[in-house]
Amino acid sequence: QAKASGRNAFRFFTAQMNADVHERLAMQNHLRHAIQQGEFELHYQPQIDLVTGHVSGAEALLRWHSAVLGTVPPARFIPLAEESGLIIPIGEWVLREACRQAQQWREQGLGPMVMAVNVSALQFHRSDPVEMVGRILSETGLPAECLELELTESLLVQDGAGATLETLRRLKALGLRIAIDDFGTGYSSLAYLRRFPIDKLKIDRAFVRDIACDPEDAAIVNLIVDLGRILKLKTIAEGVEDPEQLAFLGARGCNEVQGYLFARPMPGADFAAYLDSALKARER
Ligand code: C2E
Ligand code: MG
Ligand code: MG
Ligand code: MG
Repeated sequence: QAKASGRNAFRFFTAQMNADVHERLAMQNHLRHAIQQGEFELHYQPQIDLVTGHVSGAEALLRWHSAVLGTVPPARFIPLAEESGLIIPIGEWVLREACRQAQQWREQGLGPMVMAVNVSALQFHRSDPVEMVGRILSETGLPAECLELELTESLLVQDGAGATLETLRRLKALGLRIAIDDFGTGYSSLAYLRRFPIDKLKIDRAFVRDIACDPEDAAIVNLIVDLGRILKLKTIAEGVEDPEQLAFLGARGCNEVQGYLFARPMPGADFAAYLDSALKARER
């Protein structure tokens, strides 16, 4: 009896696994055509300077509206794009579109602001990011100081620190900024943080969520903000959803915040309207 049901359970899991593999392959196939089909869109989420209260930048976040699968969240398709190598052309599309958009807003007088773009490890290590970024900046006319690349901690420790350091230095030489995304969830060592030419630590949402009620999370956030101050790096907190979190971060001297409390990621047209009303409010 037990044996029979065990065997059935095994068969069930196998079928489920096959279905998962099949679904992933199907999704990868659709992903392969998504650029040509024009199925990608960038949404933008504001980043707010805590001292001035002004919009200091925007993070570009990729959205995929698949004709076949509907809207697929990045948490589902980005890992597939990484596994298949498709993240390289997709990442290039994202960077070009984000820079084009930022430059257009600047020309419309909606700046000054910095456009933050997520860069995956594979893009960083398997292609020539310095050549690509330099080419896109000159194509779009966006000044390098208006671009910030969000890299993950794990990216920094891959493929030998020497090559990574060299790439970071060449990127910095273009004049752009480097932020470490999801900071605190990976493996950065203090030595790396000191050695690498980094501008900003982006405190992961997981630590921000309970800062107002969990003393350990509060202590971790304090530590990251202090670390930023010691190493002369800016700090930004992601996932700020309520006024208590904001008050805590402000009191600690975190430099910037980003989260649903201010705005959700939104399409370009909505973001332009948001910037416009933020600028008008400033003038009043
Ligand atoms: P991330 O770079 O850490 O982006 C922040 C994520 O938090 C975004 O999710 C954003 O919508 C969400 N978020 C912002 N504020 C709040 C908040 O107050 N509360 C909560 N609960 N969430 C908030 P999204 O857009 O689903 O993106 C998820 C992840 O997918 C990103 O995390 C990033 O790792 C990846 N991703 C998105 N776009 C790109 C891209 O163009 N290239 C690459 N390589 N990765 C991307
Ligand atoms: Mg990010
Ligand atoms: Mg993040
Ligand atoms: Mg995150």
